[in-house]
Amino acid sequence: MKKHRILIGLIAVLSLGVGYILSPEKAVDERIFLRDLAPEIQFSEKKGSPLLYSSDAGIVAFNSHDIAPEIRGYAGPVKLLVAMDSSGRITGLRILEHRETKNYVQYMETSQYLSQFIGKSVHDPIEVGNDIDGISRATVSVNALAKTAGDASRIVASQAFGIAVQTKERASGSAAWLWYLLTFLAALGSYFATLRSKKLLRLRDITMAAGIVVIGLYLSTPFSVLHVFNLALLRPSASLLWYLIMASTALSVVLAGRFYCGWLCPFGALSEFIARLPFRKWGMSHKMDDRWRNAKYIFFGLAMLAVFLGRRSDFGNYETYVTLFSFSGNYLAWTLVGLSLAANLRVERFWCRYLCPVAALTGLLCRKTVGYRSRQDCPMANKPDPLIAECIRCNRCYTGTGETT
Ligand code: SF4
Repeated sequence: MKKHRILIGLIAVLSLGVGYILSPEKAVDERIFLRDLAPEIQFSEKKGSPLLYSSDAGIVAFNSHDIAPEIRGYAGPVKLLVAMDSSGRITGLRILEHRETKNYVQYMETSQYLSQFIGKSVHDPIEVGNDIDGISRATVSVNALAKTAGDASRIVASQAFGIAVQTKERASGSAAWLWYLLTFLAALGSYFATLRSKKLLRLRDITMAAGIVVIGLYLSTPFSVLHVFNLALLRPSASLLWYLIMASTALSVVLAGRFYCGWLCPFGALSEFIARLPFRKWGMSHKMDDRWRNAKYIFFGLAMLAVFLGRRSDFGNYETYVTLFSFSGNYLAWTLVGLSLAANLRVERFWCRYLCPVAALTGLLCRKTVGYRSRQDCPMANKPDPLIAECIRCNRCYTGTGETT
C-alpha cells in the first residue's frame, strides 16, 4: 500500500503541474456563439462598462461572467451569453461554458430547456421553481444558471439602459444538506455502536438502505472522485451540500477508514444486497483476488492523470453510481452499471473490490487499524488479516484486540 500511495501521489503532483503548463484555461470564442445567438444582427466589439456587445438594432449581448462572476454552480460558474433588448427582455441565451458533471446537466444544456428564458423580462423572477422549471438531480446547477441569467441581466438593464430593477436575496430553501447530515450522523453513530455490541450489526442494513434512498435516489449525490479532482483543480462549489459531503467523507476516513463504502455508499449497498441473493459465488484464490484488486488503483491513477493533464474533470467520469443515480449516461456507461450490478450475483461487491475509484481513494487514505481479521461472511470476501484498505468496516469481525472471531 505504501508503494501505491507514493505512486499515486507522484502522479497527482506531476500531472497537476504538467497540466497547468500544457493545458491553460482557453477562453471560448464568444463571437461564434454570438453569430448563433442572433445571426441577423451585427454586433460591435465588446467594450464599455458593463462589458457589452452592442448593435444598431438596440440589442446588446454580454457574457454573464463579465457581469456577475461570483455565482457558482456545483463545480464552478455557469457562463452564459445573453442577448437583451432595451426594454430589459432576454432575446437569446446560450451556455458558453460550465464544469458541472455532464450526466446531471444534459437536459439543462438543451435548447428546449434554455428556450424558457427567452422573452423573460428583468422584472420577472427568473427563478427555478417560480417561472423557470427545475431539473431533479441538477438542482444546484440549474439554480446557478437561472440566478446567473437573472442577476447579470438586471445589472446590465440597470447600468446600460437605466431600467429600475429590484434585486432580492433569495433564501436557498433547500434542506438537502440537512438530510445528508442526518443520514451521515445516524450511520456514524451506528458504526460506533456496533463496535461495542455485535447485536446491533443489523443497523448497517438500515443505514445502507438509507444510503440508497436518501443519498442515491433523493439527493442524487453519492461521493464522487470528481469532487476531489475539482478541488485539486481549484474549482470549488457554491453548494453547501458539496462541502458537507467532502468534509464528512474526509472525517470518516480519518475516524473509520472506508466507512463511507460500507455504511453509506448507495451503489455499494445495492451491490451488497444483490450479492446476498442465493447464487453460488465464484471461488478465487486470494493471490489472484489480490492481483485483480489492484485494478481499481490503476483505473483511478489513469483517470487522475487524464483529468489533471487535460484539466477536464469529465475525463474521469466512469463512476457507475453517477450514471445510476443521475439516471443519465451513454450506452457504455449503462452497460457498465448493468454488468457491475449483475456481477455481484457471483462475486461479492464486484465494483467495490476491483474498479471503484472512491474505494481506491479512501483505501489509499485510510490508516492502519488493528482488530479486523475477516471471516467467512465478509461482504468484501476479504482474506484473513486483510489489508485495512480492503475493509469496509462492517464490523462483523471486529474484536478490537487482534483476535480472530
Ligand atoms: S474484514 Fe471484517 S470488518 Fe472488514 S469488511 Fe470484512 S468482515 Fe467486515
